[in-house]
Amino acid sequence: MDQIRIRNLKIFAYHGVYEQEKEQGQNFCVNAVLYTDTEKAGKSDDIADAVDYGAACLFIDNYMRENRFDLLEAVTRHVAEELLLAFPAIRKVELEVEKPDAPIPLRFDSVSVKTERGWHRVFIALGSNMGERLKFLERAVADLRADVCFRDIRVSDYIETAPSGGVEQDDFLNGVLEAETLYSPEGLLARLQEEERLAERKREIHWGPRTLDLDILFYDDLVLAKKELSIPHPDMKNRQFVLEPLSELAPFYVHPVYRKTVKEMLEELEETGRA
Ligand code: AMP
Repeated sequence: MDQIRIRNLKIFAYHGVYEQEKEQGQNFCVNAVLYTDTEKAGKSDDIADAVDYGAACLFIDNYMRENRFDLLEAVTRHVAEELLLAFPAIRKVELEVEKPDAPIPLRFDSVSVKTERGWHRVFIALGSNMGERLKFLERAVADLRADVCFRDIRVSDYIETAPSGGVEQDDFLNGVLEAETLYSPEGLLARLQEEERLAERKREIHWGPRTLDLDILFYDDLVLAKKELSIPHPDMKNRQFVLEPLSELAPFYVHPVYRKTVKEMLEELEETGRA
């Protein structure tokens, strides 16, 4: 993706752990790479189609002067996220904040913290089979819509599904949500678990009834195999109640491990008759 590069933007601000840093302030230096598609602006030659780098510099300066943090880690993370929220055409930002005069009694050029933040395309499976199922699903979707760290949310139709896993229980209502998110994979899992807790989900029986179940299906084309988080979701290829609503939203999305489209996976599952 195309880049706009900002080098050595000088800002006077008041971040630091020590009192003297908070009171007297000091110089900071910001380096940023803004990832954006410049195709349209390149053709039209119109600033309205571009990320205005002057405005981005003023935004960084203003945000760093108006807010105070102890740690460079916090400054960097917040500035990066606020930039992404204020300039929707920036898909990803690499941001480095330097302290040339950090309070270290040695000779050095500067210390800095660098971070990378961006929008990620995700698909989330939604399910409920207890109480007012539709209400639980709709409330979760509404909460995610209200969270600034999600945008462009689309939700499939909900489908009725008989329970699998051998436990006697009511039918499920299932669907899939697509969104762009600023959360990291682990941050997204924690955010979804918070939403499950809000729905007072009980976890007494494995595979048992639940007011709300939210699973991460895809996170860009990331492949992750940790005990607490597997992406793509390992069971999706055997689950019609996932592949059907997913296929409604993104039939040609390619599974990063099997290298098959969602539509192909659904057709294969329907042929073998498993659900
Ligand atoms: P479940 O009973 O389906 O909600 O499973 C919940 C557990 O699965 C959580 O404790 C997660 O740590 C783990 N898990 C592993 N991979 C995923 C994923 N892709 N999405 C959601 N939970 C996951």
